[in-house]
Amino acid sequence: MSVAEFFTSAGLQTVEDRESRLLAPYAMRSAASQGRKYPEPEHPYRGPFQRDRDRIVHSSAYRRLSGKMQVFTGEMGDYHRTRLTHTHEVASIARTIGRALRLNEDLIEALALFHDIGHPPFGHAGEDTLNECLADKGGFSHNRYALVIAEQLESRYQSFPGLNLTREVLESQASRIDKSSTGPVPLLEAQVVEVADSMTYDAHDTDDAVKLGLVTLDELATIPLVSETIERVRQRFGNLHGKLLRKATVHELIDRQVTDVLQTTGPELDRRRPGSPDEARRTGFRIGPGATLAAQKTQLEAFLYERVYRHPQLIAMRSRAQEQLRAMFTGYCRRPALLPQKFRDRAEAVGIAIAVGDYLAGMTDRYCEQQYERFFSTKGAQS
Ligand code: MG
Repeated sequence: MSVAEFFTSAGLQTVEDRESRLLAPYAMRSAASQGRKYPEPEHPYRGPFQRDRDRIVHSSAYRRLSGKMQVFTGEMGDYHRTRLTHTHEVASIARTIGRALRLNEDLIEALALFHDIGHPPFGHAGEDTLNECLADKGGFSHNRYALVIAEQLESRYQSFPGLNLTREVLESQASRIDKSSTGPVPLLEAQVVEVADSMTYDAHDTDDAVKLGLVTLDELATIPLVSETIERVRQRFGNLHGKLLRKATVHELIDRQVTDVLQTTGPELDRRRPGSPDEARRTGFRIGPGATLAAQKTQLEAFLYERVYRHPQLIAMRSRAQEQLRAMFTGYCRRPALLPQKFRDRAEAVGIAIAVGDYLAGMTDRYCEQQYERFFSTKGAQS
């Protein structure tokens, strides 16, 4: 008896059963997947998107997210989010929304765990610098680099490069590269990850910034979204103070955003009832917050930009990281022998500049600093 036959005869739930019971007609079904670039046999009991999630979790690029900063560096403490914990929060919130909307949670989870896998060291400072260094080679985007990781850099099989993810995951990630584009509307599962990402960083950057002492909750309460959220906390829990108030505010901020998206999107989906994922896309259906919350989020993000992301401590880190990355980019391009064999081989195929960009983008913050000290800093450089 095959594993698949055993699975059915033993009364265990197959992916198809589960999806037919739980998913809405507009959800992406595993059986409708366009498959993979290099065809592979189906797994007896894991669906294609579950396999994608597992391939992502087992990739080395995913593990390295634990050593990549989100907004704040390791020197600033150990409370705040890393790129990996941010990713987990996004996956958790996205699954909550996806479950309520009866979308495909396996696909949502795969997309959420994958969405930031292409981030270089030192957050957006690192990305901006690599973009400058590679300006005449088409620039650098972490969303595009995620596809390079998935299709070229990770190795899983002898016979082909990359993770061989489904076309739905690759296409959804590709839709993140140019979000203003007038191209096709992403799958609803991809849209859920997009809104969850924004909710997550608005909430956790607020939390981290207050915990690190960069701003106070009182200062943040000049923003209506925060003051209204604090008011709701007071109604629910009475007069909290200090860290209890901060934590309750962050939880409420997430809850408020999730509830708003569900209240905005749920009835609209119910009214329009797209009969398939394609119909939802063709009609341009968009998942997002209502107009009031969207405007309030913009205000909060403007405040965080001015008061947190441009804080003197972060600006100092940013210029140091940029200087290091520029020196490393030039240094490795001049001395390719310093690159690991994998990237020397890659330079033969794609040219030295892109290979060096790919190598640098894959580094964790700490490894990047170590390699800089080892080869390129004026005090530690080996000749
Ligand atoms: Mg993100």
